[in-house]
Amino acid sequence: MRGIQKRAQAWLTKANHFAVWLVVTVLNIFALVALLAASRNSDVLNGAAGLLLLFTLPLLGLAPATLLHELGHAVAARLCGWRVWIICVGPVSVRFSPRLIIETRPSLGGDAGGFVLPAPRRPEQATKLRKIIVTAGGPIASIVGAALAFWIAAPWVEDRGWEGLLAAVIYVFGISSVTCAVLTLWPTRDRRGVGNDIVQILDAMRLQPDPRQVYFRYALGLIEFGFQPEEWDAHVAREIDVDFASATPSEGARLVAFLQALTRHDFERARALAIKPDKQQLGATQYLHAWRNVEDGDFAAADDALARTKGAGFHSAWLMQVREIALIGVLAASGDRADAKDRYNRLRHALWSSTPLNRAISALLDRAMQGPLGVALNASAPVA
Ligand SMILES: [Zn+2]
Repeated sequence: MRGIQKRAQAWLTKANHFAVWLVVTVLNIFALVALLAASRNSDVLNGAAGLLLLFTLPLLGLAPATLLHELGHAVAARLCGWRVWIICVGPVSVRFSPRLIIETRPSLGGDAGGFVLPAPRRPEQATKLRKIIVTAGGPIASIVGAALAFWIAAPWVEDRGWEGLLAAVIYVFGISSVTCAVLTLWPTRDRRGVGNDIVQILDAMRLQPDPRQVYFRYALGLIEFGFQPEEWDAHVAREIDVDFASATPSEGARLVAFLQALTRHDFERARALAIKPDKQQLGATQYLHAWRNVEDGDFAAADDALARTKGAGFHSAWLMQVREIALIGVLAASGDRADAKDRYNRLRHALWSSTPLNRAISALLDRAMQGPLGVALNASAPVA
């Protein structure tokens, strides 16, 4: 019975993703047709250069539309008095603290091709309502941006000169902005189970989250981007410390401490934090425990820990990579070396860029390869 329910749910998820993909594709075909119509009408746009411009414009429209969406989140955050730590659009990320840094990193995908990392400055700002306002800021900016674009472009669309061409470009931007609105207002979750803006708003309205969970998400977001606790607003660090020092610390506090040790390449501290989780904590920290078991060469225990994580509620790229190291060890030890090597190569490939987090996970993988995991992975097949 549960099997059928699971399959039905997986099918629904696929159908939902397909529907979004269909709407977005139709929208962008509209954009292309609009541009083609504009070029036929235009005295300015002709020849090969005109065609080339035509086919790159839809791509150029999406980047500014994503930027507008993310700025919507950022402006809403500032209106709520929050600090905006980082804004990413595609592979470009802008850090605002402690000083302005512009860098490129692997695209985080996620929210309409971009990402904003905001956090409350003071504890009284960490309210449900402000969280909803910050999340709604993006889709609102996308809708307003699209409406403005269509309104501005409309009078000049028929023009044969530069005004007509400019109107077509603004029109394409409008369609890209509608695309951003669709991607964030049509309820979907990504492969990691993270909901888009509307899902997060609905969840925030429906659920009463554990305040510790709220704080661990801010802390984890900050540390994932290389902001160490000394740089955080004091109340975030304080809440995490209180949680971690309590009799029953949350998994989130342990994850933050683990990630902090990892990004500082303090692997002994990381190992000390990767002890067997409590019975109540059968989620994400089991991955850490599985990794430690693989480092110790106890592949049976690692297998057991990984089996217990079914249904873990929290997923993040780095956590999945720690899990992957454990899984490679388990597979190699069980004799499934082809699969293990395949996963090893894919993990190495995923760690190509030199962000602090990737460097830390690479070092973790190197450590494992020098230990029992490396031995199991490279052992020659037994002679039959
Ligand atoms: Zn958004």
